Amino acid sequence: MKVVLKAVLEVKDKLMSRTFPLEKIRNIGIIAHIDAGKTTATEMILHHAGRTYKVGSVDEGTAVMDWMEQERERGITITSAATTCHWREHCINIIDTPGHVDFTAEVERSLRVLDGGVVIFDGVAGVEAQSEAVWRQADKYGVARICFINKMDRIGADFHHTVTMINERLRIKALPIQLPLGSEKLFQGIIDLVENKIIAFPVDPNSASIAEGETLLAKHRQALIENLAEFDEQIMLLYLNGQDVSVSQIKAAIRRLTISNRIVPVLCGSALKDRGIQPLLDAIVDYLPSPLDAPPPSATNSKSGKEILCLASDDEPFSALVFKTVSDLFMGRLVYLRVYSGRVKAGAQVLDSTTGKKERLGKLYVMHADHREEVDHAETGSIVASLGLKMTSTGDTLCEPTRPVLFETIRFAEPVLSMAVEPKSKADQDKLDNALAKLAVEDPTFKIYHDKETGQTLISGMGELHLEVLMERVFREYSVKVNAGKPQVAYKETITLPVESEGRFVRQSGGKGQYGHVWLRIEPGERGSGFEFRDQIRSGAIPKEFIPSVGAGVKAGLQSGGLAGYPVIDVKVTLYDGSFHEVDSSEVAFRMAAFMAMRDGIDKAAPIILEPIMEVEITTPNQFLGDIIGDLNSRRAHIESIESRDESSAVRCLVPLAETFGFAGDLRSLSQGRASYTMHFHRYEQLPKDLAKQIAARMGRSR
Ligand code: GDP
Repeated sequence: MKVVLKAVLEVKDKLMSRTFPLEKIRNIGIIAHIDAGKTTATEMILHHAGRTYKVGSVDEGTAVMDWMEQERERGITITSAATTCHWREHCINIIDTPGHVDFTAEVERSLRVLDGGVVIFDGVAGVEAQSEAVWRQADKYGVARICFINKMDRIGADFHHTVTMINERLRIKALPIQLPLGSEKLFQGIIDLVENKIIAFPVDPNSASIAEGETLLAKHRQALIENLAEFDEQIMLLYLNGQDVSVSQIKAAIRRLTISNRIVPVLCGSALKDRGIQPLLDAIVDYLPSPLDAPPPSATNSKSGKEILCLASDDEPFSALVFKTVSDLFMGRLVYLRVYSGRVKAGAQVLDSTTGKKERLGKLYVMHADHREEVDHAETGSIVASLGLKMTSTGDTLCEPTRPVLFETIRFAEPVLSMAVEPKSKADQDKLDNALAKLAVEDPTFKIYHDKETGQTLISGMGELHLEVLMERVFREYSVKVNAGKPQVAYKETITLPVESEGRFVRQSGGKGQYGHVWLRIEPGERGSGFEFRDQIRSGAIPKEFIPSVGAGVKAGLQSGGLAGYPVIDVKVTLYDGSFHEVDSSEVAFRMAAFMAMRDGIDKAAPIILEPIMEVEITTPNQFLGDIIGDLNSRRAHIESIESRDESSAVRCLVPLAETFGFAGDLRSLSQGRASYTMHFHRYEQLPKDLAKQIAARMGRSR
């Protein structure tokens, strides 16, 4: 009887209708260069889509999405908050992505779980370097996009110029599906080329006339259809046969082309003035993909390594990717999941296939920016936060234990800057350790080291601002006051010549001896390739069981280079020969032998020191350009381009991280606070010889 009841309940569970059909779900991100208006636009979207009753204002620091106090103060959105809203019977999950590139890990992790994105541009500034960087990241994850050209009310706003920049800089066909009617103060309407209508705002007696808009509408609607015909066969056939193309046919074609990433529809408006937000919501629903349209994520069986097709359906076994973990002061550890298949109940046992451990989900929540709604289950396509998972971290896959599926994890950049920290009061050491550990779980680009020799705690991250923000959180959320040292650059070492190196670890005096003997080929790898270890022992010169120990010894040998003790990167190591002893060989002996071969080999392979190089883009009024270039030259900057437009210029350059300290303050004083800049890690490059000598002398040979 019990069994029957259980079966009935299970069937009932399966039949339970979804809150929203899958095709009516949109998982989207709002992506923008800092200051383009992402927070304001999100606020307006939430206002119209019914979740926020009072519209916050970024300038007054009450925006709902900026839910961390300091974000409000800084006026930038740092952490991805997820929020759900509803429009035209669709469920839109918005995963907020930060605009500041010091927080690229946040962008990466949210892009990984999005199906679509709204990219917001400032109609005056156009496409800025950071947007380009995020655009490339979105390309990597195949995220379908629509563009919204914001701030059409601002002086200098230029819709067509921004569209040209999207075409040229982002190398994608930008298809305007709206045009602004007038701009700046006279921005008085939106010409909707798809619906064939003009959305007029309250008319200014001096503004461009609606009749002018009608002429533009007729001309550009025809151009839109011709453009679509070029890309879409169905529209082409209608067009060639001289047939009328209906609104629904146009929408369907735009949807097909957007989802397949062949075009990006471009819209316009002013978030601040609440212009164009409802049409933007329509476009999200009409053109961005549902979980059914997005390609299934690449997945393997965590036990067999074989590929698995993970279909977006409630009938499939449950699988989800963890894209964020947050320590909430009141609730504890919140883990954000995107469900890719199946459904799961609150309290269910799941497998974390990344760690191989089983864990129990606690309560489940749908997150709104200002409140949480408890739900009893999560279904395919949804984004929920769960309490109760203890070991799970960002990038892990959770799944039904009977189908151990593993999604490709999220890869994060290695931190490039470190800083020593200590509590102002010694009594706070434990509190500080605890706070740092919690923050490191949330943020995979934030790392903590304890230097055994000096007893110091070192933290490292992606830039000065990143570390500063984290220290502020330590103070605000954990009430620990911190003394921070000067930021230090995370240098690395590498080699420039291939060498062959022998390592022998033999101790054979009395009792059981030790015997390990290896020959390694150590070669320079490509920049950014990291470390690769290959085993080419064919003749049984070293028994199989000792090979992993050789690998471990090689890795240990890379931990500190011979020049200044920095980690060695971009090296290929091949184990090609060696010997063993029937009795005396052991794992430890082979690890030691490999370690010694690495140490010797690296010293002989013409080692060099590498330094992190940052990509910097500065926007400044022209009158300060000369002084800023002078300052950059004193920072070993390599100027890549200077683009001038009207009164301002954009300088793009590559600057060694070591030379960027204090740049924010200098730029402010050189430009009377009117220039702005963005900075993010570009790549590692060789440190000039004279500087390398200085560093090597300062650090001494640390081994
Ligand atoms: P975010 O950094 O991308 O989140 O940008 P915010 O939403 O914080 O906006 C940056 C600044 O631009 C704020 O001062 C906003 O008030 C302003 N802003 C946003 N949208 C508009 C707009 O449509 N027109 C004008 N004139 N200003 C805007």
